[in-house]
Amino acid sequence: MKDKVVYLDNNATTRVADEVLEAMLPYLRELYGNPSSMHTFGGQLAAHIEKAREQVASLLGAQPSEIIFTSCGTESDNAAILGVLEAYPQKRHIVTTRVEHPAVRTLCAHLKQKGYRVTELGVNSRGLLDVAEFTAALTDDTAIASIMHANNETGVIFPIEELARIAKTRGVIFHTDAVQSVGKLPLDMARSAVDLLSLSGHKLHAPKGVGALYIRRGTRLRPFIIGGHQERGRRGGTENVASIVGLGKACEIAQKFLVEENTRVKAMRDRLEKTVLSTIPDSLLNGDPENRLPNTTNISFGYVEGEAILLLLSRAGIAASSGSACTSGSLEPSHVLRAMGVPFTHAHGSVRFSLSRYNTEADIDYTLENLGPIIQKLRAISPFSRGDLKVARSEPQR
Ligand code: PLP
Repeated sequence: MKDKVVYLDNNATTRVADEVLEAMLPYLRELYGNPSSMHTFGGQLAAHIEKAREQVASLLGAQPSEIIFTSCGTESDNAAILGVLEAYPQKRHIVTTRVEHPAVRTLCAHLKQKGYRVTELGVNSRGLLDVAEFTAALTDDTAIASIMHANNETGVIFPIEELARIAKTRGVIFHTDAVQSVGKLPLDMARSAVDLLSLSGHKLHAPKGVGALYIRRGTRLRPFIIGGHQERGRRGGTENVASIVGLGKACEIAQKFLVEENTRVKAMRDRLEKTVLSTIPDSLLNGDPENRLPNTTNISFGYVEGEAILLLLSRAGIAASSGSACTSGSLEPSHVLRAMGVPFTHAHGSVRFSLSRYNTEADIDYTLENLGPIIQKLRAISPFSRGDLKVARSEPQR
């Protein structure tokens, strides 16, 4: 492995920003008190948590009182869905999609086993939802619709405002997992119809193990973690002060970098994507080219394994992700690509590159220099890249 890592896996996690680390350090060294203590040494920290709450709220265009801190995006998603189901015990139906992150998808599968009815909406070959299908899925029995803002694998953005407004007309609480979009797309909860929104610190240059849930004022929600009086009784547990302060700082910085995410970062993503698609044969883009996060590109390379590509990229010091779940041992293509109907020959060879503001043009040059030869090398030894099989494949969907 090279000393320098070209890190193109920012949808998996991000580097902690230097300013975030600096902001956190005093709370790990000197300011280690408990914010609930009567004495000033601990009690003074409550004000620092409130400052972080204001910083998070500001990025979302929300009121500070509408934010609770959690331990991660997964907890925020669980808190939203389980909290609504508990608040509306008479309603037994959930609407979600087939392409959610496991934080929502696995929870919904669990709830199905518990007797809830779950409607999982499909997507088309570009990863887009059918709004009419969403509308038709809502019933008087629907407690919550949980639809992600941007997909972690493809970056495809769902029209959450439109969906939330439809949900409102049917009296259905609307939750969105915005873990991938916060800090990359502008949000304005004051003008939004979304009731609940999840975010996670480690996707926007804060540390792992801290998240937040936006709860629109007036939304009925039972606490998920029941215990102490923290977070005004909405989430028990002594506050992770250092990480909360870090999340606040990260949100403050993210607000300043929103334009850069959508200009410089997007331009680098576009150059990487365009060059790959135009120079590497049998490569295709997964996901709608327009409605997409500015930092993400998911590209399938026909007739090669994504895992093999990742391994060779990793040897060259380039970190990316693949769309197949090798951890299961089955090398099943990702549920997202399967839901999109990506052809088998291409679903296995998918690679996700996700950029951040820390990437440079030199990172893109280096990746482009390495990627072409890697694909060529793998195809040369792939039994699937014989000409006869190539002809037999179904047409890839753009
Ligand atoms: N939701 C989405 C869309 C994600 O991408 C992730 C993390 O990959 C999560 C939820 C889970 O967040 P966390 O790792 O903070 O639990």
